[in-house]
Amino acid sequence: MNDKKVYIIGAGISGLVAAYELEAVGYRPVILEASSSIGGRLKTDVKDGYLLDRGFQIFLTGYREAKKYLNYDTLNLKYFDGDMVILRTDGTIHVTDPLKNPAGIISMAFSKVGNIKDKIKLLQMVTSVLSKSDEEIFSQPDLTTEEFFLAKGFSPEIIFNFLNPLYRGIFLEEKLTTSSNMFEFVFKMFNKGKAAVPELGMQEIPNQLYSRLKQTELRLNTKVINIEGKKITIENEDAIDADEIICACKPDYLGDELKNKFINYHDGKYNQVTNIYYAIQRSFIAQPIIGLVPGENFLINNLHFPTDISAAYSTTGKALLSVSIVNDVSTINDLEETIADELQQLSGVDSRYFEHIHTYKIKKALPKIVSPTYDFIPTQVQLDKHIYLAGDHLVNASLNGAMISGRRAAEAIILNDSVGKPEYLGPISTSGMEVQS
Ligand SMILES: Cc1cc2nc3c(=O)[nH]c(=O)nc-3n(C[C@H](O)[C@H](O)[C@H](O)COP(=O)(O)OP(=O)(O)OC[C@H]3O[C@@H](n4cnc5c(N)ncnc54)[C@H](O)[C@@H]3O)c2cc1C
Repeated sequence: MNDKKVYIIGAGISGLVAAYELEAVGYRPVILEASSSIGGRLKTDVKDGYLLDRGFQIFLTGYREAKKYLNYDTLNLKYFDGDMVILRTDGTIHVTDPLKNPAGIISMAFSKVGNIKDKIKLLQMVTSVLSKSDEEIFSQPDLTTEEFFLAKGFSPEIIFNFLNPLYRGIFLEEKLTTSSNMFEFVFKMFNKGKAAVPELGMQEIPNQLYSRLKQTELRLNTKVINIEGKKITIENEDAIDADEIICACKPDYLGDELKNKFINYHDGKYNQVTNIYYAIQRSFIAQPIIGLVPGENFLINNLHFPTDISAAYSTTGKALLSVSIVNDVSTINDLEETIADELQQLSGVDSRYFEHIHTYKIKKALPKIVSPTYDFIPTQVQLDKHIYLAGDHLVNASLNGAMISGRRAAEAIILNDSVGKPEYLGPISTSGMEVQS
C-alpha cells in the first residue's frame, strides 16, 4: 500500500484510467469531480424513455489502448454496419464498404458518389494505413485533411458526397483543418475494427472503468478552483494538501499559475457540435448505418437512428433519431423546426412526425490539436514537481488518446516515486520517441 495522497482532478476517461493504473501499484487515489457524475464528455442521459448520448460518439474497437481497460463482452457492444447512406434531395445513395463487399466496386463506377478510381484509391489507402503502426501514422509530415484528400487525387464528387460529410461529422468542423495524421488514424481504426456503441449507451464505458476501481475515493460535485504548489482549493470547501496532483481536465481552468505553464500544449480552441434527438414511429433508414448529408443546402451534416444499432435506446416503441450539425447555429431561433423541415425534405416523412426530444449544444466538444500525437513521454506533462497533466488535449481527441494520457500521468508519478528505490527501472520510453532527460 502506498500512502501518498494523490488527487486526480476530473472523472472523465483520462482521470478514471489514471486512478486504475495508480491502484494497480498500491495507491489509493482520490478523484475530485466538479459535476454530479463520472464520464466527462462521455455521458448518456435518460429522458422520456430514451437513452441520449451527449453528442454522437462511437467506440472504435480497433483502439489499442482501450483493449487494456475495457471488457468488450460485458459492454455488450452493438455494431454499425460498415456501409453508409448518402441522403440527397434527388435520392439516396448506398455506399458499400469495399472490404466487406469488394463487388460493390463495380456499382461505384456508375454511382453519383465518386468514380471507380476513387474506390480503388480508398482500397489502396486501407492497405496503406493497415501496414503502418499507430505511432508511424502520427509521426508522418502532415497536411490538413482537406489538403490530403486533394493531394491523394480523390474526385470532387467523392469528396463532396462522402469524405467531407463523414469526416466533418467525426472531427466536428465545417472545414476539414484537422491533421491528416488524425484522419489516417481514424480511417485505420474504421478498417481495423468496427464502430460500435455499448447496448445501454456510451456512458457504459466510464461506468465500466469506474466499476473496476476498488481503492479510489470519488468526490462528486467538487469543483477545484485553484492549485498552488501542493495546495488544492475547492469551491465552498477547505483547501486540501496533496502529495501529487493529476489534472485530468484542462488545467487552464485551474488558476493562472497553471495556465501560463500550459499554453505550450493546446491553444484552447475547440470544435463544437449541436446534436438534436427526435422520436418517430419508424426509422426511415432501418439499418445500423450512418446517413451523410452533403453540401451547404442543409444544416444537417449526418444522422443515424441509435435504435437501429441498439434497440435499448428506446423503451417507448418509437425509433430514436440523432442528428448532428457542425455549423454554428447559435443565431437560429427555431432550430428544431428548421431541422425537422430538412428531415422532411431528405426522408419524405412529414416534419410534424418528428417529435423533438432534446438538443445538446456542445461548445467544447473536441480540442483543436494542431499536431496530434499518439503518445508522449510521461515526464513531458509534468508541469512542476507535483503536478501532472492528463486529458485528450495532450495527444489526440479520442477515447484512445484520453486513455493513453491517463496512463502516462499515473506512470510519471509511479516513476518519480520509485527514483532512488531498488525497483527503479530508469526513464520510461515510448516507441518511436526519444526519451528526454
Ligand atoms: C460530441 C462528441 C463526440 C465525440 N466523438 C468521439 C468518438 O466518436 N470517438 C472517440 O474516440 N472520441 C470521441 N469524442 C472524444 C471523447 O469523448 C474525449 O476524447 C474523451 O471523453 C475525453 O476524456 P478526458 O478525460 O480527456 O476529458 P473530459 O471528458 O473532458 O473529462 C474532464 C473531467 O474533468 C472535470 N472537471 C473540469 N474542470 C474541473 C474542475 N475545476 N474541478 C473538478 N473537475 C473538473 C469535468 O467535469 C470532466 O468530468 C467525442 C467528444 C464529444 C464531446
